[in-house]
Amino acid sequence: MITIRSEREIALLRQAGNVVYKTHQYIKPFIKEGITTNELNRLAEEFIISNDCTPSFKGCEGFPYALCISINDEVVHGFPSERTLKNGDIVTLDIGACYKGYHGDSGWTYKVGEVDPVLEDLMKYTEESLFVGLSQIKPGNRVGDIGFAIAKYAKEHKLGVVKELCGHGVGTEVHESPDVPNYGKQGTGPLLREGMVIAVEPMLTLGSPSIYVDSNDWTIITQDHSPSAHYEHTVVVTKDGYEILTGE
Ligand code: MG
Ligand code: MG
Repeated sequence: MITIRSEREIALLRQAGNVVYKTHQYIKPFIKEGITTNELNRLAEEFIISNDCTPSFKGCEGFPYALCISINDEVVHGFPSERTLKNGDIVTLDIGACYKGYHGDSGWTYKVGEVDPVLEDLMKYTEESLFVGLSQIKPGNRVGDIGFAIAKYAKEHKLGVVKELCGHGVGTEVHESPDVPNYGKQGTGPLLREGMVIAVEPMLTLGSPSIYVDSNDWTIITQDHSPSAHYEHTVVVTKDGYEILTGE
């Protein structure tokens, strides 16, 4: 079931989304060579809690950490660990926060020091593909319009689209209906209506989009170990477009 949120609920989702955004801004300066991903996870978790929220992902379907931190060929659901970031890595921090029972969800890929120009392009085009997808959001359009636009943009830039994972509704659960795939057919899928809240999250790869699940049963890694980027915002469908809840 797809829920239409009331003004009161949207205000709470906006609060949660704002804490997610602020956590990204808080953690960004710490993303440097030598820091462990455990440390990034600890800092972000403390920040989320100090802002009257709880980390959405901790315990979600059994995920053991506050953040998903995924490096290079890890697409999503990376476990924080004693692994240190290296100059030239790209690292995705997926952050979720829950405020008074309502969630916000936003993932973002960051570079560590100086990265190869090919990775700069992967990041740039994946971020742009998020906004290309978001530009399709208005009442009357359909979920398939979002995925179609993302996949078309990815193809134009010769990037792979990971199809096994997708965006989703967001509300009193961090993952709700509908699924929001990063591919699709125009004019198909659930109708977008004012008050729907969804997370759009393209995951694009430099090489093949085939993936496998790590032996930890969570982390998704590209089959050919090519690097992957991931950008995500939670948005609410408005009267004539959308409002980003996990932005400024
Ligand atoms: Mg998400
Ligand atoms: Mg996320």
